[in-house]
Amino acid sequence: QWIYLNGDFVTKEDAKVSVFDHGFLYGDGIFEGIRIYDGNIFRCKEHLDRLYDSAKSIMLDIPLTYQEMQDALVETVRRNELRDGYIRLVVSRGPGNLGLDPQRCPKAWVIIIAEQLAIYPEEAYRNGLVSISVSPRRNIPDALNPKIKSLNYLNNILVKIQANLAGVGEAIMLNAQGYVAEGSSDNIFIVKKGVVYTPPCWVGALEGITRGAIIELCGKLGYPLREEPFTLHDVYTADEVFFTGTAAEVIAVREVDGRTIGAGKAGPITTHLLEEFRKIVTVDGVQ
Ligand code: PLP
Repeated sequence: QWIYLNGDFVTKEDAKVSVFDHGFLYGDGIFEGIRIYDGNIFRCKEHLDRLYDSAKSIMLDIPLTYQEMQDALVETVRRNELRDGYIRLVVSRGPGNLGLDPQRCPKAWVIIIAEQLAIYPEEAYRNGLVSISVSPRRNIPDALNPKIKSLNYLNNILVKIQANLAGVGEAIMLNAQGYVAEGSSDNIFIVKKGVVYTPPCWVGALEGITRGAIIELCGKLGYPLREEPFTLHDVYTADEVFFTGTAAEVIAVREVDGRTIGAGKAGPITTHLLEEFRKIVTVDGVQ
């Protein structure tokens, strides 16, 4: 496995980061998770747009141009001879001193890791996941806009810990007002009477690339789509619930907090959206 580290390709054993790196000391940095489908880097541009927007928002200078970054992604995939897999792109503030001042970090570090991906088994897409709502809240309002895909993932990790304790694959996070925000690393959608709903990002959700693709597909396929806040009551009483994310794609939910959703398996609109999503993943991106 070859890891891209600041312009060089090094082995996994040599891919090391300083203990003074502010990504490590303070979670000061940003990242992207990107899929490769049959050699195609899916929605590469959208991921890079989000990365560079996150960087701008936290005043982090990425030492690569957009084109150089894209070339680095392509080269990492090529070197690792991957046709299908997952890319983790991390830009940290880089090594500094123990103070939190980012001015003490002269250069951001860029790391690209590409590897195989362990995803849900295919039957999970037909049967749906069991899910729960959890107590950690998306901090809104907060200085850290949920659109920034930062290295501060403790909230999401607390969600994942509760999901693990309950033995479920993904859990639902609310915001401070009690509106449904997202999962630990997925966006959430519900379907009621043929209308598809997802929370607007200001409720406290990342502007997911998969979410964006599903919103577009709803338009193409003629499913009415509304971005509006909703509560757990709306989730419990929905006809269909599903999560979207780079790793999970479009995964149905069959039960939330003990309430069976719809027929207790992947519903027709979820299934249709997954089918159509899988048609675009090999073409919509960079080869
Ligand atoms: N929400 C959070 C908090 C995430 O970390 C992710 C994963 O990247 C998502 C949603 C889904 O976004 P995307 O579809 O871009 O992977």
